[in-house]
Amino acid sequence: MDFSEEGAAISRKRTWSKWGSYFSTYLFLAFIGLAFIAGAVWLTGTWFDLHAPVIQLQPDAQLLGPKQTFTLTLSDDNSGLSRVTVRLQQEGNRKEVLAQTFPGRRWGRGGQDRQVQIPLTLEAKAWGFQEGPATLTVEARDYSLMGWFQGNRAELVRPLHIDLTPLRLTFTSINEVLNQGGTGLVTYQVNKPTAKTGLLVNGVFYPGYAVGKEAGRYLAFFAVPYDLPQPLNLELLAVDLGGAEVRHKLWYRLKPRKWKADTLNISDDFLQRKLAEFQGMNPQLQGLTDPLAVFLQINQAERLKNDRFILDVCQQSHSEPLWQGAFSRLPNSKPMAGFADQRTYKYRGREVDKQVHLGQDLASLERAEVPAGNTGIVVSTGPLGIYGQSVILDHGLGLFSLYSHLSEIKVEKNQKVQKGDILGRTGATGMAGGDHLHFAVMIHGHPVNPVEWWDPHWLKDQVYRQLAIVGLPAAPAKAVAAPESGTESRKTPGTKKKKRQ
Ligand SMILES: [Zn+2]
Repeated sequence: MDFSEEGAAISRKRTWSKWGSYFSTYLFLAFIGLAFIAGAVWLTGTWFDLHAPVIQLQPDAQLLGPKQTFTLTLSDDNSGLSRVTVRLQQEGNRKEVLAQTFPGRRWGRGGQDRQVQIPLTLEAKAWGFQEGPATLTVEARDYSLMGWFQGNRAELVRPLHIDLTPLRLTFTSINEVLNQGGTGLVTYQVNKPTAKTGLLVNGVFYPGYAVGKEAGRYLAFFAVPYDLPQPLNLELLAVDLGGAEVRHKLWYRLKPRKWKADTLNISDDFLQRKLAEFQGMNPQLQGLTDPLAVFLQINQAERLKNDRFILDVCQQSHSEPLWQGAFSRLPNSKPMAGFADQRTYKYRGREVDKQVHLGQDLASLERAEVPAGNTGIVVSTGPLGIYGQSVILDHGLGLFSLYSHLSEIKVEKNQKVQKGDILGRTGATGMAGGDHLHFAVMIHGHPVNPVEWWDPHWLKDQVYRQLAIVGLPAAPAKAVAAPESGTESRKTPGTKKKKRQ
């Protein structure tokens, strides 16, 4: 055995273990260092979080009613929410509305709640608050150790005006009798300023207009649907500035009616004559060679699009009545088709489509001058799909009239026109076989029977009687006594009996 060799081996072993222990010590220290840094980062995120919670209160109302619910949203992404307090204060009164603590996690890892939504119902009246200014204060804190271990503090102060007067709607009048497809009018009173008010006709909203000298007096014109839904629900609606809503269901007398059925035969000649014009209305139809297919596209999809356009144009109306008395009709004209005619379209004896005619067709001489039916403001001019070259007038309070299939337009958008001013000339543009005027009346874009607006007696009994209630001029002398208008009204019932040609 060579002892010296053994000794050398032992010494090598010692050297290696010495280096090994150095290495593990460094590794250990590095690990501790990293853990320390990670811990520090973690602690700054939770224990030493510097960001205060975020407070949001919806809706953004400035007015507080007797009982009103808000939604309080609190968030704190870093150390989590620890507590929230809400109080309502006014001189001489203070109410703790909410005091809530949120659970914290073990080992100081902050709160469990990073975002919460709390419904907040303020019962100002029940809590004995008085009408007038008040303050709502929301205070929230998080689980950070900042703020002397109290957490970061956030505060939201919302000045509010307490309004305890309940919103009241008082119905005053409605037409003695509503006609299916006709125009209805309601008048009513609201006891305080409103954010929204009007009439709901089976959910369709017709805005109310504040009229007359007395504050809180309103009227709303509405369309009695021609395709009468069952039941027909009329509900007055008012929403005050604090968001409180009141509804009042109305009772009424209604006269239903049956509409005329009409068959329109589509000739090949008509389809050929109109093909290029129809294709021009929608570029997607350029490739379509079957004239009937093009016609059906226009009579269905384009018609819907055009009626939507009319609805849009007629949303905003002048806030005062611009019209005076009965509307005038196209002079020396014969009725060709009536309102709500139930049309069946036939091609080579086969039924191809069904539509409802939403105006009155009147024929005079070719290219006859078309006078404005009443005073108003031009809100739209130009091509309007199936209606061809058209003019739409706003007569105020939601009342509009449409003049279609024109060959020429002589007015411009935003121009004010007097009753009788010439708007253009009749023609056969759009879905028209021959020269005639398509005349329509709409309430905020919803079609109504124009015959009523030509009739001074209907106006006197159903409209002016109610306008007087809200303090508007009872009726211009012309509307009742003018011989011209009188002749028109006598003509109307007679013309209704005439067969369409
Ligand atoms: Zn028509």
